[in-house]
This record gives sequence, C-alpha cells and structure tokens, in this order.
Amino acid sequence: MSMTLSDLRVVTPDEVHDGWLTIEDGRITHIGRGTGPRNGNGHSLGGRVIVPGFVDIHTHGGAGGSYPDGDPESAAAVAAFHLGHGSTTSIASLVTASPEALTRAASALADLCEQGVIAGIHFEGPYIAKSRCGAHDPAKLREPDRAEFRALLKAGRGHVRMLTIAPELPDALDVIRDAAAEGVIAAIGHCDAGYEQTIAGIDAGATVATHLYNAMPQLGHRAPGPIAALLEDERITVELINDGVHVHPAMLRLAAHQAGPGRTALITDAMGAAGMGDGRYRLGPMTVDVTDGVARLAGGDPGGGSIAGSTLTMDVAFRRTVREMGASLVDAALMASLTPARVLGLDHRVGSISVGKDADLVVLGDDLQVDGVMKRGTWITQPS
Ligand SMILES: [Zn+2]
Repeated sequence: MSMTLSDLRVVTPDEVHDGWLTIEDGRITHIGRGTGPRNGNGHSLGGRVIVPGFVDIHTHGGAGGSYPDGDPESAAAVAAFHLGHGSTTSIASLVTASPEALTRAASALADLCEQGVIAGIHFEGPYIAKSRCGAHDPAKLREPDRAEFRALLKAGRGHVRMLTIAPELPDALDVIRDAAAEGVIAAIGHCDAGYEQTIAGIDAGATVATHLYNAMPQLGHRAPGPIAALLEDERITVELINDGVHVHPAMLRLAAHQAGPGRTALITDAMGAAGMGDGRYRLGPMTVDVTDGVARLAGGDPGGGSIAGSTLTMDVAFRRTVREMGASLVDAALMASLTPARVLGLDHRVGSISVGKDADLVVLGDDLQVDGVMKRGTWITQPS
C-alpha cells in the first residue's frame, strides 16, 4: 500500500523545504522537492509543516492514567493520549516504589513493549538522593543494590531502557557500570553529587542527565556541581522540561546552547493530570494536587509543595521551544525527535523524516498545533 503526502513544509535534520513524501508499508520511501503530485491516492496538506514523530524518553502518565500503577489498561491509555499529541515513541517512567511494586509494574509494562505500544521502561529511582527526591516517596528510597537491579531488569524482560540514579550514593558506580554493560542507559539525576562525583558517574558509563536543573544542586560559579559537568561532557545528553514552570527560558537557552541540539532532549515528565483538569491525582504512592496545570505534592506528604511532574505534552514542548526559546524548526525537531531517538538507539528507525525510516509523522498547523499524527504509515489523527 502506497500513499503520497504532498504540498508540505518538510522539516529534515538539515533544513525546511517544500516537499512531498511517499509512504509504503509504513515506511518513508521517497522525499521529493516542490509541491509534488496531486493525483492518485495522495493527500495534499496545503503547505502545512510536517515534523518527525516526537520521542519522549521520560513520561509517567496522562489522561488520568499512570504508568507506575502497573495497570495495562491505564498504561495503554497514557500511551494513546501522548500519541495523540505527537509522541509516536514513548518510554514509560516508573517512580520510586517497593521492589514488589516495581517488579509488578515492569512485568506489566514489558507486555506493552512487546505489543509495540511503548518503546521501553525507565526506572526513575529508587537509588536517588533523599535530599533531592522531589515527588519520590522518601520512605522507599534505597541505596544502590546490584542484585535488586538485576532482578528488576529480569522483570522487564529486556525492555528496561533507562535507570535514573544519584552517582554519589554507595555502590552507585557499580550499578551504573552494570546498567551500561546490559545496554541500559544510566541517567544521572535526583542527586546531590558534586562536579567530580558527577564526572565519576559519567566515567562509569552514564550518558543522560535526568531533567537537567530539576532535583539537583544549582549551578554555582565556585561550586559548578552536576549541571556544569553534565552540560560540558560530550558523552551526556541532557533532558529538559520546557513547560514554563520547571526551568526559566533563559536557563533552557543556556543549556541548549552549551549542549547543542544534538545533546539536548525535550521530555514531558508528564503525570496523570496531563490532558485533564486541575484536581487531585496520584504519582506512584504520592498524592499530587494540580492547580492551574502545575502539579505539586499535596501538603500532607513529606516534601509537600515540590513540583511533581508536569502536565506537558510533547507538542506543547516543541511549540514552546520554537516560540519561547527561539529555536529553529530544525533544531526543535532534533531536540524532540532525533536526539532522544539516538539516546534510545532507535535512530535507524525513527527520529527524522528520512527515506527508509518509519512513517512516524506529525502535521502542524499555522500556530504549530497538531493537525495530524501518523504512526508507521497509519493515521492516528487524520489532518482535515
Ligand atoms: Zn520523572
């Protein structure tokens, strides 16, 4: 089955050009210049912008559902919600919980990985710093444990893709080395590490910074801390939450300028309230109140008031990156798609509009709102 999409503004990793695409068996088979053929089983998109499907490597929930619940129905609803907002590839992020709860959730999510609904599992915690635990249950934090980590990987049946860990904790470097040896991305975050401790974590094999700036010591001119180490090291890709709440736009620009779009990945860190109204929600074992779209731990819990994930979706993050950060469409697409795809080792299949890759596409209207989403050549939302 062949399909032609014509009259597009195609955003490739190098440029934006007028063009058209041919899609066959779920893949992009041709990229042309000009408006393209208008006959046959084509679809003219009236000069709208088309970008690669977004790749979100850090998300907990949405549409009232939550990955940490380990409930397949709820998890499928989360993935479908974010897919509607252009995330054609999503990683399911768990939060700190008991070994039993993590094992149960990982094995339920592994089923969804095998069905192609999500692209992997991310353990955010439990080996993170008490002083920087944010919305994680401090009672459930523990020291890095190689045997437990091995058991968690087993529960995930080869689908665990990422572990967020504080490198300064005892045995953390061993667990980072184990992760790297197993092909699991070690991500530094929720940590109280200094500059040198962070470099030790990177030397042990860490390659990602979990939501840079948030839940880690601040950048100081005499105490550069983890932020400087993570930004300047070419081995690290930094995650950024661009929701207008977590990080000031100037600091987003600073990070993206230093790391460049090739080492900067936009994430949502979304929780269940994304796509829903204000109100009370759960994030793993914690209670979260959402007011004006901002999620914070409920007052009664320890650490009450901490920001607890976001209500962001990748389309909004993309739009803000162009509008508020001033990035070009090409750079925003790198940060929303190709760079995170490369982090996951999936860039041979997804992450850019390139011949041979999956036809995972997002059609954007005038103000960059989502008009259509395609996954592997099938419209999830067909543009009008
Ligand atoms: Zn998170």
